[in-house]
Amino acid sequence: MIHQYKNNGYNIVLDVNSGSVHVVDDCVYDIVPVLEPIIKAGLTGETAIEAACMACEKLPYSSSDIKEVVEELMQLYEEGRLYAPDEYEDYVMDFKKRKTVVKALCLHIAHDCNLACKYCFAGEGEYHGDRALMSLEVGKKALDFLIANSGNRINLEVDFFGGEPTLNFDVVKGIVEYGRSLEEPNNKKFRFTLTTNGILLNDDMLEFINKEMSNIVLSIDGRKEVNDMMRPMRGGQGSYDTIVPKYLKVAESRDQMNYYVRGTYTRNNLDFSEDVKHLADLGFEQISVEPVVAKPEDDYALREEDLPKLFE
Ligand code: SF4
Repeated sequence: MIHQYKNNGYNIVLDVNSGSVHVVDDCVYDIVPVLEPIIKAGLTGETAIEAACMACEKLPYSSSDIKEVVEELMQLYEEGRLYAPDEYEDYVMDFKKRKTVVKALCLHIAHDCNLACKYCFAGEGEYHGDRALMSLEVGKKALDFLIANSGNRINLEVDFFGGEPTLNFDVVKGIVEYGRSLEEPNNKKFRFTLTTNGILLNDDMLEFINKEMSNIVLSIDGRKEVNDMMRPMRGGQGSYDTIVPKYLKVAESRDQMNYYVRGTYTRNNLDFSEDVKHLADLGFEQISVEPVVAKPEDDYALREEDLPKLFE
């Protein structure tokens, strides 16, 4: 089974049965679906190549390009990385009869944010929609849903995510309280986590978080200039000075465990190891940094030519 789509300027071909993901150019992208019925019809070798080339005649590519692509696709087919057979075909009806078991929820507790990070996948918290906060009623229904669909699983996970969850902290507290009330009667155990940008974090919140949250993720990109370039407040000023003292307090209050500072690196800090070192020098012991997800045309997007520097 082939699933193909375009995303962020990339042509992606997913061969579901083998699990292979191919990032391809337009010509390959257009020929993949033309070749599929030919393969399914059982044609192989030169016969398949000839049939595919004929079927592709109307595509806006030269016959030599088409032939070259068809040969490459046939090669992938022979290697089992494209048009792979569905090994589960005979069992799928049994799978469909099984009840779905849900073990974790990521609650979009605040469809809003108080930062204006330049790489924000959430459109600065709004996900390109209207700003809104989850109600306690919806949060409770989410936990009811989780319990009702969790089968025999005892341990269930709920992540408070956004946008920025601390903008809706009363509802976070209400949902946790409701979750705890459900544990004993249902023989379940909730593991709550929260991801925050730290701006609104205060001592009261920290006390609650330390009592109730198994983990907390603290967003920061590293050195002040790096962080403030990509993670400014809505008014344009940097967030580093506000969050660092709070994050240090979180780390110490949790004995340097069950938290982590999480950074995103971009084309602006290809030397991101310096940011990791900076975070370690500040006193953080749990650090995670990840590459930015961006459109190729974004000036901070990582490019193939950056790889040597990144590997360094
Ligand atoms: S803190 Fe998160 S949700 Fe808010 S703007 Fe930054 S990346 Fe987006």
